[in-house]
Amino acid sequence: MLTGMQIAIIGGDARQLEIIRKLTELDAKLSLVGFEQLDHAFTGAVKERLEDVEFSDLDAVILPVPGTSLTGEIDTIFSNEKVQLTKELISETPPHCTIYSGISNDYLNELTGSTNRKLVQLFERDDVAIYNSIPTVEGTIMMAIQHTDFTIHGSNCIVLGLGRVGMSVARTFHHLGAKVKVGARKTEHIARISEMGLTPFHLDQLEEEVHDVHLCINTIPAPVVTASAISKMPTHTLIIDLASKPGGTDFRYADKRGIKALLAPGLPGIVAPKTAGQILANVLSSLLLGQWKGE
Ligand code: NAP
Repeated sequence: MLTGMQIAIIGGDARQLEIIRKLTELDAKLSLVGFEQLDHAFTGAVKERLEDVEFSDLDAVILPVPGTSLTGEIDTIFSNEKVQLTKELISETPPHCTIYSGISNDYLNELTGSTNRKLVQLFERDDVAIYNSIPTVEGTIMMAIQHTDFTIHGSNCIVLGLGRVGMSVARTFHHLGAKVKVGARKTEHIARISEMGLTPFHLDQLEEEVHDVHLCINTIPAPVVTASAISKMPTHTLIIDLASKPGGTDFRYADKRGIKALLAPGLPGIVAPKTAGQILANVLSSLLLGQWKGE
């Protein structure tokens, strides 16, 4: 249990509600900032304005998945209040106070580094990334259905990258009956793709592999779907780019060539905010229990 632990949950979307639910169940004492338009009340949680939070009492601060903006603002979809996390506020926390965020950026790294507070990025963890790949794949299927006039079954599908997302995408599209080829650069990935019953190719060969592709799904956060590769795709190809912004596709050239190319960030929060929230809530609660027990 987290009895006696004081935690501020600052901003965020529907995913944070699952975190609040779980942490109140574990008996933590929560200050909720940026939730005043939320009708629901949680026992043991108090809705507060940022300036009313006692930062000196906090054991942990939970930020939304994107963390802060590059100037420290935090997105709050349940509030009109402008919320900015500053060095002054974090310096007021006790030295053991840990900051939890989905991802980080230069602002958050500087803020936690200069105040010597521990920052935990949940999305760097393999378990979170693998669980999160499940709603990501479901969102990808939704996009493929919405933006094509053919079935996934029987389609020629190219998946780029065999990381946490790429593997889930490749396996699921294969099970839906697509003919899946996967592009990777490591020999162990090529071997794994073969073992999965899929057709591997080295990324260097992408241009030779795309002449009959219907769906090209990129998971590599690097410019791999180049103008040259796109120029060899049929015009009815749909490119779905899952990689973090700006994606790995030459969108300008795809547009020029009349090929539909979609950058699709944040699918778990869009198609399954409850599940995406539960994934974060489960991992966060075990991390907080470890922190509270002093592990
Ligand atoms: P990951 O496990 O790190 O996998 C990334 C893959 O990209 C690996 O196969 C890696 O291969 C390959 N790669 C990276 N840089 C490369 C390069 N320069 N050239 C060739 N291959 C390269 O990451 P992940 O968890 O699968 O996530 C993939 C991307 O999807 C990330 O950008 C992530 O932020 C994003 N994402 C998006 C959503 C969404 O809703 N759209 C949801 C979750 C994640 P090597 O092992 O050879 O480096």
